[in-house]
Amino acid sequence: MSQPIPTATLPDGRQVPALGLGTWHMGEIRSDAAAEVRALQAGVDCGMTLIDTAEMYASGGAEKITGEAIRGRRDAVFLVSKVLPSNASRNGTVAACEASLRRLGTEHIDLYLLHWPGRHPLRDTVEAFEQLRASGKIGAWGVSNFDSLAMRQVSALPGGQNCAANQVLYNLSTRGIEFELQPWLAERSIPVMAYSPLDEGRLLRHPGLGRMARGLALSPAQLALAFLLHRDNVIAIPKSSSPERVRENRASADISLTGEQLTELDQMFPPPRSRQPLAMI
Ligand code: NDP
Repeated sequence: MSQPIPTATLPDGRQVPALGLGTWHMGEIRSDAAAEVRALQAGVDCGMTLIDTAEMYASGGAEKITGEAIRGRRDAVFLVSKVLPSNASRNGTVAACEASLRRLGTEHIDLYLLHWPGRHPLRDTVEAFEQLRASGKIGAWGVSNFDSLAMRQVSALPGGQNCAANQVLYNLSTRGIEFELQPWLAERSIPVMAYSPLDEGRLLRHPGLGRMARGLALSPAQLALAFLLHRDNVIAIPKSSSPERVRENRASADISLTGEQLTELDQMFPPPRSRQPLAMI
């Protein structure tokens, strides 16, 4: 019997699953589309009802795959998409969101993120986000690849306190955010969305992680995801195009790591001891 997936809490109090589904590289190869749709549907079926996508992925192709996967079950899903920085002007953000809505086949995106800081003034992007929120086209907005300084800048803007998430590179081998950014976000009840939680698959070939996982009768992916699920208010969004691997990832929510096991992971992947520049892909 599987345990319910733990939840993370958005600043407005809404609960979302702390384990969701990534979509980067989906929609790139036409002949893979049906399998990708099936993988996302398998995830939703087993409770991974948060789906992360972006207008950038396959130039809209990943949003189309996502739209196909959630057709007829939109209300069961918490949908996250992102605007490209080059589109993130006052009017460009609204137009980009409307194009995403069309590709996704829905009338609203639950959480809409600025993919990374860009050349358009942040103030204009935030104004557009607030307009989209007021019109109901998005439920909440947030940012991605924002370091502590950029977070301070966004939160000082009019409406900036409504920032609901920061999606950053975070996994066992990239723990820099734990020193400063994560505590800053935690103080404001802003969840961290951990992208590339398996380090794009590289972590799965780590010999020490492999050994420890075997000893616990887990897969390395499950152990890497269980670590993130033990962190407060972190949402991990592993991507897999295989229903079997999606279900394997889902089982990481059933794992309860002991203090000793967490210490062993800390020894293998030491937490940061000083401030570090934000890592990103
Ligand atoms: P992940 O860390 O999720 O790793 C994905 C890779 O791991 C794929 O090659 C996948 O292969 C493989 N994989 C997944 N599960 C398993 C498993 N159980 N066993 C073996 N292999 C597995 O990398 P991503 O970079 O995709 O990150 C996740 C999501 O985060 C993205 O899809 C995207 O939505 C988001 N993202 C956001 C960024 C941002 O700038 N905001 C940047 C990067 C990612 P397969 O599909 O064949 O199973």
